[in-house]
Amino acid sequence: MNNDALWDDIVIGAGYSGLSLAALLTRQKRRVCVLETHSLAGGCASYFKRANFHFDVGATTLSGLARGMPISNLLTHLDIELETKKLAVPMIISLNNGVNLKRYADSGKWLEELSKHFPDVDHKTFWDQLNKISSRAWALLGDTWNFPPENLHEAIKLLKPSLIKQADLGVYLLRPLESLLPQAYQSGPLRQLIDEQLLISTQSYADKVPALMGALGLTYPDDMYYPFGGITSLASKLENYIVSKGGKVEYRKKVNSISDSLELKTNDQTFAAKRIISTIPVWNLRSLNPKLEAWVNSMSKVHRDSWSAITMNFAIKSKIPVESLYHQVHLDQPIRHAGSKSLFFSLSKPGDETRAPAGWQTVTVSTHALMNNFSHPQDTEYKRDKEIIAEQIINIFRENVSEFDEIKFQSVGTPHTFERYTGRYQGRVGGIAHSIDFRPWDWPSHETPLDNFYHSGDTAFPGQGIVGVIQGSLNFMQRHHWQREGNQ
Ligand SMILES: Cc1cc2nc3c(=O)[nH]c(=O)nc-3n(C[C@H](O)[C@H](O)[C@H](O)COP(=O)(O)OP(=O)(O)OC[C@H]3O[C@@H](n4cnc5c(N)ncnc54)[C@H](O)[C@@H]3O)c2cc1C
Repeated sequence: MNNDALWDDIVIGAGYSGLSLAALLTRQKRRVCVLETHSLAGGCASYFKRANFHFDVGATTLSGLARGMPISNLLTHLDIELETKKLAVPMIISLNNGVNLKRYADSGKWLEELSKHFPDVDHKTFWDQLNKISSRAWALLGDTWNFPPENLHEAIKLLKPSLIKQADLGVYLLRPLESLLPQAYQSGPLRQLIDEQLLISTQSYADKVPALMGALGLTYPDDMYYPFGGITSLASKLENYIVSKGGKVEYRKKVNSISDSLELKTNDQTFAAKRIISTIPVWNLRSLNPKLEAWVNSMSKVHRDSWSAITMNFAIKSKIPVESLYHQVHLDQPIRHAGSKSLFFSLSKPGDETRAPAGWQTVTVSTHALMNNFSHPQDTEYKRDKEIIAEQIINIFRENVSEFDEIKFQSVGTPHTFERYTGRYQGRVGGIAHSIDFRPWDWPSHETPLDNFYHSGDTAFPGQGIVGVIQGSLNFMQRHHWQREGNQ
């Protein structure tokens, strides 16, 4: 093999983890090639087009752009600008008692809104505590690229005075968020508010999620943005950056095997690199190399059930503009085959013609689900299930979000759809659920048994959402480049 064919880094996967990492590595002047099995970038935050309509398929919300937060840090490193609008009312939450709560970004207004609908409850003490934990936790996450430590050297580096001062936050890793809930939040609609908001941000409910991750999840709407051009707009900017710095993003390259000497075989080509960083889920690594298979099999805790999703896309001609572009609707019962009692609706902004022609809006709907509830896509039952799901979702949309004059391009996605388009094992999306039974040190390490082969993405700590995987990429850079090379 000639030297030109030997990449410094091969990154597997062009989701937000792989693209952010590859962009940061090319900025470090490394020769980087990204291999992606699909024909588009974005992974779980990708899109599809029908005529001149643009649909986000999975992730729709962007947070973490405030100064010092992970996406803002990434944009600063790469000198990239992104067209977004900070949302004053990031979401409306329709509780199952009929109340429509406006989830204001401003904490004072949010407290007023809660008190208007739930008087005689001390909301302030609870939300102040969450805000305090969350802002300290973000500062800490940005400063602890070596948490959880992978070796003695990293453990020693954690013993710096600024981190020791924050040690009291550790208790919030050990107790569930439920332990912070005031009486009024322990049952009824306020409990459902907490649980369903936690599920979409941490993949867990209040009885399981560590209070620290729970606080980060419940406060994420404070820093939420509408991305013009859809959730893929940042992915396109990252891809352009990689290419402008001499890197490559190769599509329709499914990585099928990796040898111990880092020779990597795809469906139609062989690649070699000095280092490989995989951003595909940890379960997928089993089929790539026997040592990786043994490693993944040895981590019993990662084999628990993980969530997949049911999604639906459609376009509407609205009767009246909706108050917020994001809407969570709480239900008495999950829709067919879903695992949670809520639906999350995301609409394109009226007038954003990068997403839909004038007068129209595109809609993405999602809810949690498990693969084993669905029959095989070839079965007639599967088709019928999708029709029932579509009907239920449209009815709930009409009753809770918006009436419309016209609707078109309806399509339902299931765990099988995610498995097919992202290659993710059993269509598992959203990473590993944060849980007090699955602490940061239980997450698969980022080092693997193969020399110079690393694991990143949403099944590596800190996981969880676009903001989490981007923080993971920043941590990788600190570990392997910035700390050693003394620059950022
Ligand atoms: C329905 C839904 C809604 C969500 N909502 C939000 C949200 O609103 N906000 C938010 O921040 N997060 C949200 N998330 C989570 C977020 O999308 C993910 O956590 C994040 O995008 C994961 O990025 P990743 O790069 O780790 O993984 P992925 O996005 O899965 O990227 C991995 C990439 O690897 C590719 N790949 C897989 N196997 C191979 C192989 N063998 N060879 C080559 N390439 C391969 C895949 O095609 C994929 O492109 C949502 C997820 C879903 C499913």
